[in-house]
Amino acid sequence: MQQLIGIYGASGFGRELLPLVREQYPKASLCFVDDGSEDKELNGYKIYNYEDYLSLAYQDKSVVLAIADSKIREFLIAKCSKNNLAVLSVKASNTIVLDNVEIGEGSVLCHFTQLTSNIKIGKQFHANIYSYIAHDCVIGDYVTFAPRVSCNGNIHIHDHAYIGSGAVIKQGTPDKPLIIGKGAIVGMGAVVTKDVAAGAVVVGNPARPLNR
Ligand code: UDP
Repeated sequence: MQQLIGIYGASGFGRELLPLVREQYPKASLCFVDDGSEDKELNGYKIYNYEDYLSLAYQDKSVVLAIADSKIREFLIAKCSKNNLAVLSVKASNTIVLDNVEIGEGSVLCHFTQLTSNIKIGKQFHANIYSYIAHDCVIGDYVTFAPRVSCNGNIHIHDHAYIGSGAVIKQGTPDKPLIIGKGAIVGMGAVVTKDVAAGAVVVGNPARPLNR
């Protein structure tokens, strides 16, 4: 059966994800799907808008979401499920996953991601290059890691949190995990030493709320 996979988001992250998809699904045809692009082609692959993608005659059609904004991912998943389009997971070939790791659907694990042992991760998790999650972490749905996030042991990250590039999160304990609240944003290079409230934006070392 001819398989077509659309990389949803013909932008920077889309260009980074396409080679991972190509490696993981070598028999599939690939293209980009984008609702905002004026271009017809990117890095040698066709770009379709969503409606045009739906009308392509393939028996097995699916998408991979290459969009960092978790709210957009949630919106696109609802749209794709209405049209019975599966949202695939992608895992780079050198990802390291140890024991008892549970991970939800639609996840993206870029090169050099490490998930150690006894970790639970919800759906639509995105880990950009060089990020790790250590033992006993619990990660919610639609959580996004920029490159090189260090998420140490016993940390709980709630839904839709965004962790910026190079952030380091101090480990919690089994009795008192360190908590990053729902929808919180941890800034680039932040060193998080204590809980972050839901919806808060924290920056710096040690990380403190950003007053905007
Ligand atoms: N996009 C889309 N449909 C949507 C929202 C976004 O096709 O409903 C596309 C948008 O046109 C852009 C890409 O997704 O090309 C998102 O790119 P952006 O640079 O914002 O994010 P990144 O690549 O950094 O995740």
